[in-house]
Amino acid sequence: MVSSGFRNLLLKLGLPEGRLEVLEGKGGIEEDTFEGIRYVRFRDSARGFRRGTAVFEDGTVVLGFPHIKRIVQLKNGVKRIFKGKPFYVEEKVDGYNVRVVKVKGRILALTRGGFVCPFTTERILDFINEEFFRDYPNLVLVGEMAGPESPYLVEGPPYVKEDIQFFLFDIQEKGTGRSIPAEERYKLAEEYGIPQVEVFGLYDRSRIDELRELVDKLSEEKREGVVMKTPDMKRIAKYVTPYANINDIRIGSRIFFDLPGGYFMGRISRLAFHIAERRIRGEDFENYAKALGEALLKPLVESIEEVSQGHDVEETFRVRVKNVSTAHRMVNHFERLGLKIHIEDIEDLGNGYWRITFKRLYPDATREIRELWNGLAF
Ligand code: ATP
Repeated sequence: MVSSGFRNLLLKLGLPEGRLEVLEGKGGIEEDTFEGIRYVRFRDSARGFRRGTAVFEDGTVVLGFPHIKRIVQLKNGVKRIFKGKPFYVEEKVDGYNVRVVKVKGRILALTRGGFVCPFTTERILDFINEEFFRDYPNLVLVGEMAGPESPYLVEGPPYVKEDIQFFLFDIQEKGTGRSIPAEERYKLAEEYGIPQVEVFGLYDRSRIDELRELVDKLSEEKREGVVMKTPDMKRIAKYVTPYANINDIRIGSRIFFDLPGGYFMGRISRLAFHIAERRIRGEDFENYAKALGEALLKPLVESIEEVSQGHDVEETFRVRVKNVSTAHRMVNHFERLGLKIHIEDIEDLGNGYWRITFKRLYPDATREIRELWNGLAF
């Protein structure tokens, strides 16, 4: 249930009463507090409020980050989406999405689901200049947090060697969620020293061969892919490298039984489209086939072997925090997301940071493997 204060606020913001009631009925909206700042987050979309939208007690609305269309046949996808218009090509950085916003004098970092993330909020000013929000209180910085020490992902991009970093890829208006033009964003990022995703330049469909070469290079460098955007940010599409498709399968295979089948299907089919579009044959084909087979099988077999020896399927994460209490708040946050996580180790790095090691358990995957190993027939 949403308190009467928020109810009135949401109605004032244009959410029809009937819609609000339906949303409440199915748990599509939830009230929450972060360090005394109250907000509601939308678990489902409703009217103009996209999934992941957060509405704060002072009336600030931060719209959910929208879905980006995926291209699987690069040449035809580019033709169909951009229709001959030029588009900027940016790196798709492999991390987690955050929206950074100033509310009631505080800089907060929201996850894709619309939670204020205690970890990211504590660390965000290590990466961005607060001055930006003094000058532009009405804007939201959207970026990817990526690196080997991430609370949500087991890996980061190869060039982030330690800890985690922020990479800006969008600036949106509060309330409307409208993106500012790409060139304005590039300029603001430069002006305020905000780290941003790599921009590879302005392309159009006549340069498809160069775009393909870029994808090949990124794949070789173990990078995730590209996001293509018209300068006005009205048309956006993503394309993922074959490396990232195989690597995701490798990471997912460890927890095979915890993931929906679509996780693997989507990635196998994207790889197949890449191979078909590029007419990959002979030795190169064999290499992909071997890499895919290994990525699918090896970690799963290893998990089975571990469980058969009495261990659990689990993953280890490390993050750096300024206060140990932030780590405990992350555990609470994970528990609310339904995850089974505990703190394994706390180490004082002696430079104002603590390194926290979390262990995430996968009880469903463990149980499934154990039963099958013990002879369960179906
Ligand atoms: P969806 O777009 O359908 O929500 P998803 O949540 O599975 O898909 P991805 O397939 O990983 O997300 O791709 C979209 C995400 O890529 C964005 O939400 C954003 O966090 C991330 N991203 C990384 N780099 C960029 C970039 N340069 N521009 C836009 N998004 C980027």
